[in-house]
Amino acid sequence: MTQPGTSQHADDDDARILGSLGRIVGDRHVIADAAGRAGFDTDWRGMFAGRSLAVVAPADAAQLADVVRLCAARRLAIVPQGGNTGLCGGATPDTSGRQIVVTLRRMTGLRHLDPEDAVMICDAGVPLAAAQEHAADAGLLLPIAIASAGSATVGGAIATNAGGVNVLHYGSMRRCVMGVEAVLADGTVWSDLGGLHKDNTGFDLSALLAGSEGTLGIITAAALALAPRPSRHLTFLAGLPDLVRANAALAALRARTGEAITAWEVFSATSADLLHAEGPRLSLPLARPHPWYLLGEVSLFGPGDAREERAFEDLAAVLENAGIDDVTPAASGSQRQALWALREGITEAERAVGPSLKHDIAVRPSRIAALATHLADECRRLDPRLRVNIFGHMGDGNLHVNALPLVRDTALPVALAEAVTRMIHDATHAAGGSFSAEHGVGQLKRAEMRRYKDASALRVMQRIKTALDPDGVFNPGKVLP
Ligand SMILES: Cc1cc2nc3c(=O)[nH]c(=O)nc-3n(C[C@H](O)[C@H](O)[C@H](O)COP(=O)(O)OP(=O)(O)OC[C@H]3O[C@@H](n4cnc5c(N)ncnc54)[C@H](O)[C@@H]3O)c2cc1C
Repeated sequence: MTQPGTSQHADDDDARILGSLGRIVGDRHVIADAAGRAGFDTDWRGMFAGRSLAVVAPADAAQLADVVRLCAARRLAIVPQGGNTGLCGGATPDTSGRQIVVTLRRMTGLRHLDPEDAVMICDAGVPLAAAQEHAADAGLLLPIAIASAGSATVGGAIATNAGGVNVLHYGSMRRCVMGVEAVLADGTVWSDLGGLHKDNTGFDLSALLAGSEGTLGIITAAALALAPRPSRHLTFLAGLPDLVRANAALAALRARTGEAITAWEVFSATSADLLHAEGPRLSLPLARPHPWYLLGEVSLFGPGDAREERAFEDLAAVLENAGIDDVTPAASGSQRQALWALREGITEAERAVGPSLKHDIAVRPSRIAALATHLADECRRLDPRLRVNIFGHMGDGNLHVNALPLVRDTALPVALAEAVTRMIHDATHAAGGSFSAEHGVGQLKRAEMRRYKDASALRVMQRIKTALDPDGVFNPGKVLP
């Protein structure tokens, strides 16, 4: 007979745990074989590869609460996972084989949608695109627009406080969240799904879970505030000599128009070259090449041709005053889609070249132009061969600054990659900015937390973590340094 402490004993113990998990969620919803776990144990970018004991898919919050209690009793950590599209390794387990991935993929119900209150209550595993369709069916808008919406889930978008292209008008995901239901570390199912706009009865725990990246609780459902659906859009692409003009034009348009400016996206000549030569192979519908490009959108609500004409005149006057003369407006829905395909194709085009070194920084919008120039110059100084692809959400001050591989399909040399990241994050910090605007921290940027985050803020976060999850069941090794 095998003694406790041997591998046979460990195997028996694991088999007992898997059996218990199977009794809670159903045996076929516990995936323990390596092939079945593979897609859950690795992140979307292929940067992190873990080894979980099992992937478990509960059907509802009650089953999940039982899973949490079991894992807490057996001292197994839980890694919550939605669509696994996160860019910081937050949903990837470690390599110990002692962590359980909990996937929300079975929890995809629409619980309630009230057009009169403009509130949707849905399970956390609903893909964002499906949630957007539910809202559209009711004539409303879930105003979070990210390119991963087909796979990313409502719960994952809340847990990472996802941003995207409409943040300048609608805010990040946290602003859509009226409340959540979540399973806490002691197995309590805590619910705040009343859909209230106003509720000042103490701390806002739902807001705390937004952006917590699975470290404080597992979100099982959310009440989301929906917005009116625009009836028309004025969408345009313009070429620019510099980013100063893009910011000046935004400020001028804000002062002039009463309409909603819902997107103010920029991308560099490198992005345009990549779009043309790689991946989607798209060309820009402009008269000539430029150092920078601006994709802007004004959303109009309700009927009124006169209003649309006025908004168009405002936009045209602002662009002309800013000296922006190479402009293509979208004259139809399909032309609008074609312009957005350019912006949305940048990540795919970049990916076709190989693994790029990505950065996701935020500063006040007025500082973006100078910072972007500085970062491009400094990258060239570090290595004249470096190609830097800069693009992002100018309107809310968020840029992606990605260094492309020197050799196709090959990561940058480690020393160069470290020097580039340090330079970009140091310069952003010096400009009063953030090293993570919308992608979160996960395991990728934990060291940056220690380096740049205010020490007192870190202490408070650690106390909150200890209060809500004293035994460290939820997502250890993520976010907190
Ligand atoms: C092509 C592409 C484009 C993208 N564009 C954007 C963009 O424009 N803006 C942006 O902000 N992000 C973007 N992202 C990043 C990513 O899609 C978002 O962060 C998304 O919100 C993650 O959702 P998910 O369901 O895939 O979460 P996952 O990747 O599964 O998990 C992300 C984190 O949330 C935690 N988590 C997941 N579900 C839950 C839950 N129910 N309860 C508690 N914790 C949970 C995980 O533990 C992990 O820490 C992009 C990603 C890709 C691949």
